[in-house]
Amino acid sequence: MTFDYAPAPESRAVVDIAPHYGLFINGKFVEPRSGNYFKTINPASEEVLSEVSEAGQADVDAAVSAARKAFGKVWGPMEGRDRAKYLFRIARIIQERSRELAVLESLDNGKPIRESRDVDVPLAAAHFFYHAGWADKLAFAGFGDNPQSLGVAAQVIPWNFPLLMLAWKIAPALACGNTVVLKPAETTPLTALAFADICQQADLPPGVVNILTGAGETGRMLVEHPDVDKVAFTGSTEVGKAIQRAVAGTGKKLTLELGGKAANIIFDDAPIDEAIEGIVNGIYFNQGHVCCAGSRLLVQESIQADVLAALKRRLGTLRLGDPLDKNTDIGAINSRDQLTKIEELTESGEAEGAQRWSPACAIPEKGFWFPPTVFTNVTQAHRIAREEIFGPVLSVLTFRTPDEAVEKANNTPFGLSAGIWTEKGSRILWMANRVKAGVVWANTFNRFDPTSPFGGYKESGFGREGGIQGLGAYLAVEDPS
Ligand code: NAP
Ligand code: MG
Repeated sequence: MTFDYAPAPESRAVVDIAPHYGLFINGKFVEPRSGNYFKTINPASEEVLSEVSEAGQADVDAAVSAARKAFGKVWGPMEGRDRAKYLFRIARIIQERSRELAVLESLDNGKPIRESRDVDVPLAAAHFFYHAGWADKLAFAGFGDNPQSLGVAAQVIPWNFPLLMLAWKIAPALACGNTVVLKPAETTPLTALAFADICQQADLPPGVVNILTGAGETGRMLVEHPDVDKVAFTGSTEVGKAIQRAVAGTGKKLTLELGGKAANIIFDDAPIDEAIEGIVNGIYFNQGHVCCAGSRLLVQESIQADVLAALKRRLGTLRLGDPLDKNTDIGAINSRDQLTKIEELTESGEAEGAQRWSPACAIPEKGFWFPPTVFTNVTQAHRIAREEIFGPVLSVLTFRTPDEAVEKANNTPFGLSAGIWTEKGSRILWMANRVKAGVVWANTFNRFDPTSPFGGYKESGFGREGGIQGLGAYLAVEDPS
């Protein structure tokens, strides 16, 4: 018997999107001195949501100067316990406005409301609560009894978790006494602009947080600005390398959170039903637009057939469609460019001899969509086993022994995350010691918590976000990672 789901869309009426937004500089929305604007669309419908400003050099200068002034006069000298009050206030406002923020995020990004409502927004609030708690306790964080803030932080974030990445960046920066200029991604500026409104609502002193919308060029001008003390970037390895070159020798403190190609490793003694959920959550959560996605499934050869049969059955139950529908599992691909990249890489998979499978699923006519996809007969030489696809595409490889699993898991230029599924505790520890990844999940995947540091090795970047370790990235101390 099959069940049909009636549509259950979340109401759009909870959000009020302005037709036009200025830049948020020194506590106010102002028109860009550049005179340039661009549009942001809903990737599920291609409908234009709003027109936003593109910050140019004069705007970047104004924002950095506002942040510098706020650092020197207000935020830097402020007692930690007073900074904490602002952070707690922001956290509570995020909770109060959570429905609005979730709908706005799903509209601008294309992710299912179930995820923005249950993951992105609650975690964003949690990051502010957690760091609010640290603001008056920095002397007890293990960095000496009077750790100093850095100054002005330039922060550039991607489009896959727009509000959550903003929280990962802004909460620790403010808790440690720094001021911020942040650039959201071009395709997802709206929740950052809503956050600017939240800063006003929280009475945050002007200049402590500045939001500059724009494209890659705005990001480049921001990170290269000479009056910036700290650069924090999340995005592609390619842009991360360019930023590292630009920052080299300037004395700016740098953290880079870049791409990944994580192995999700399933041993023959793993609880298979749970592992199937972990595989699905690992690669189909957020349409696979996840830097730590479990994009390479390493399954022990003896159970490959069973795992694949169960996985295909499970994928047949996923619902793709309207991101605002509470029943939707797979939303829209964030942009036409990203869709083209996914199509190109999956075509290379077929051309190189891997076998492609997707469940039958209706693709909406408008918008950008890609069905959940599994590739078998994948070798380590295939591009789909080496390159980050950043889409709902799983490459399946097999192994026979734990040593072989470690070797294959580490056979990548990246080192962000890994998953290990087995009943044996000793094997979990043995594997976790050998897999070169910043985050290793055991019998779970894609779990995040503000108390737990996140970050990578090798081409996945350096520095940690979250936890005590993440505070070190915003203080004038040796980086603990
Ligand atoms: P991207 O091109 O590197 O963009 C990331 C951000 O940098 C965007 O705001 C972008 O602006 C901006 N940017 C582009 N060129 C720049 C430059 N020269 N200088 C400064 N800023 C610049 O990455 P993407 O394609 O949007 O995002 C997907 C990638 O991000 C994936 O590779 C993924 O693995 C990685 N990612 C990593 C993490 C992590 O935590 N490690 C998290 C999420 C995503 P525009 O929006 O205008 O392009
Ligand atoms: Mg958009």
